[in-house]
Amino acid sequence: MNSTPPDVHRSGPGPFDRLAEQASLRRRAGLRRELRPRGADSPLVDLAGNDYLGLTRHPEVTRAGADACLRWGGGSTGSRLVTGSTALHAELEAELADFTGAEAALVFASGYAANLAAVTALSGAGTLLVSDAANHASLIDGCRLSRAATEVVPHADPEAARKVLSGHRGPALAVSDSVFSVDGDAAPLAELAAVCREFGAGLLVDDAHGFGVLGEGGRGALNAAGLAGAPDVVCTATLSKSLGAQGGVVLGPAVVVEHLVNAARTFIFDTGLAPAAAGAALAALRVLRREPERAGRARTVARAFHTGLTAAGLDATAPDACVVSVRAPSPEDAVAWAARCRDEGLAVGCFRPPSVPDGVSRLRLTARCDLTDAEIDAAVGVIVRTAPQG
Ligand code: PMP
Repeated sequence: MNSTPPDVHRSGPGPFDRLAEQASLRRRAGLRRELRPRGADSPLVDLAGNDYLGLTRHPEVTRAGADACLRWGGGSTGSRLVTGSTALHAELEAELADFTGAEAALVFASGYAANLAAVTALSGAGTLLVSDAANHASLIDGCRLSRAATEVVPHADPEAARKVLSGHRGPALAVSDSVFSVDGDAAPLAELAAVCREFGAGLLVDDAHGFGVLGEGGRGALNAAGLAGAPDVVCTATLSKSLGAQGGVVLGPAVVVEHLVNAARTFIFDTGLAPAAAGAALAALRVLRREPERAGRARTVARAFHTGLTAAGLDATAPDACVVSVRAPSPEDAVAWAARCRDEGLAVGCFRPPSVPDGVSRLRLTARCDLTDAEIDAAVGVIVRTAPQG
């Protein structure tokens, strides 16, 4: 095989030369992202991942993932509409629906794909989408792909949604994260649902950060808001955070799931959820059902982070679930702070523009139910000790 690149004769700049200019602008603004290697057995205390319930390495979860891979294969080999739907997928969907109180469930290769599916298939030209300003990128992309008119409303403001809905005739869908991924605050779901009902609008909730953590035994944000099983509310979740696996799910009325199977492009044209991920997620769900106290402990750990950090004078957000953010003076400060934490054995997330809705860089910590009180104190100590001065 010839490994030397072909000689290209061209007059003027190449088609990708502008990317190098953009890269240098990013570097100068302190906004460059790079991939850091990660070992399988990292010595770091991990507050960067989303393994809220400490299940990703639970022996029942890893064993079930490996067994599913051996039984069903390394991949799903195609769309479930083409290659068939396994008993494993059906079992996972039935248990997810039963756990959350939804009539039906449909799993996807990722939470991102589940959100694209739900937003696009439940809207379309003529629908009005009402989207919270702090929604996750996957909901925003769903709105864009849907070709529906989209009104972005101020964050966590049901009155703003009411104003928009009251001026609209025709189908409408309000779209919101349950727990916002940057600051960890919860949406006012009960109020939002009441506003939607007033105008006959549907409500779509992305419960990526609430599933497994909020509600009775981790049944999620709809359970916490008294909306589980509601005929006018649809919920999505990822299998990659509380369940420690990978994949996504849409939970809602059976008529919605039937529609998604027939209309959602990320279901129809995407390879089905990998068997290993389905097996791991199902085992994790069973552990959670057996040990519901994991959900409450994860929330307690998050509040302990907030208490410790604010007591030391840091600007930390009050968590409604497991996410706590600490503001940094600049993107450069955030990167350097995260690096100092890493040097002291603590992995934290570093969020900078354009991933933050207000342009303010932050460290982001995620609570895990399996952290001891001593580990919490040590982690708070590291963050406080390494904070930017001044
Ligand atoms: N929604 C929210 C709020 C998220 O934080 C994420 C994960 N970053 C997703 C959706 C996407 O889920 P997944 O990683 O499973 O694609």
